[in-house]
Amino acid sequence: MNTIRLNARRIEKPWGRRDIPAIFGSATPDGEPVGEVWFEDPRGGRPELLVKYLFTSQPLSIQVHPDAAAADPLGYPSGKDEAWLVLDAEPEAKIGIGLRDETDAQSLREAATDGSIERLVDWHPVAAGDSFYSPAGTVHSIGAGLSLIEVQQNVDVTFRLYDFGRARALQLDAALAVAQPGPYTQPLQPYVLTPGREILADGPAFVLERWRGPGAGMLQVRPGKPLWLVGVGRGGRLDGKKIEAGSAWLVEGSVELVAEPRSDLLIAYPGRGLRSFAAFAWETPSVLDFRRRRFRDSPKGLKKAG
Ligand SMILES: [Zn+2]
Repeated sequence: MNTIRLNARRIEKPWGRRDIPAIFGSATPDGEPVGEVWFEDPRGGRPELLVKYLFTSQPLSIQVHPDAAAADPLGYPSGKDEAWLVLDAEPEAKIGIGLRDETDAQSLREAATDGSIERLVDWHPVAAGDSFYSPAGTVHSIGAGLSLIEVQQNVDVTFRLYDFGRARALQLDAALAVAQPGPYTQPLQPYVLTPGREILADGPAFVLERWRGPGAGMLQVRPGKPLWLVGVGRGGRLDGKKIEAGSAWLVEGSVELVAEPRSDLLIAYPGRGLRSFAAFAWETPSVLDFRRRRFRDSPKGLKKAG
């Protein structure tokens, strides 16, 4: 099987929301709101990446994740880098990433203890379409009023520095041992590689791309090196199967992708360095318009048409 549709599992969270997209069902009336939707391989196992949707009505904790070197002695199979693509943001919504100024572990400990860490964190106003890559060691928090897609290394290890007065446990010592107590710089400014193919992040732990249709061709994916594909908006077809908005897929081997006009797909794969998708061709509206215009404007074209 070359395409596997991942199972969507809703996770209730105190900071979640009840107005989640219909494709994920509705929140249980008596239960907690839905904070996350996890996409899991129906065959089981632990794929290298994990894709989630997040829906927030309150900020998540201010937290940090270890890198591989710090995670290994604690018994975790990898470190944890994360990336976010904002889908929808209320007007005041923010993501906190890095600190406003250089500080040190002792000052960070005091700030986490007395709550002034809320003012140390660098809060960025965000809007739909913004993306961030958060390497292990980056102090971060997802603010309230956001819907986003999170891609991460598939390991459940989070050290909380501060939880906005909620009663959950903190892991201050572990967090301070791995936190970079200074400003964050985005490892890569997102750029358009070719019309229809935008690169949002290029490692170190995974690559994140956003593809827009129309386009068609074969995705050649080496066995054992799978590709994650998420229908952000309008989709297309994978080996004839409809890619719905809110569906996530694991792709391996040789797979036919047909992306509709204005389709919007998120692509992720482990490692650093862009993969070549030579057998897939993007046909963006701008290229089509350009070709049409050139045909119309050329005297030969006019003659043919007449
Ligand atoms: Zn995190």
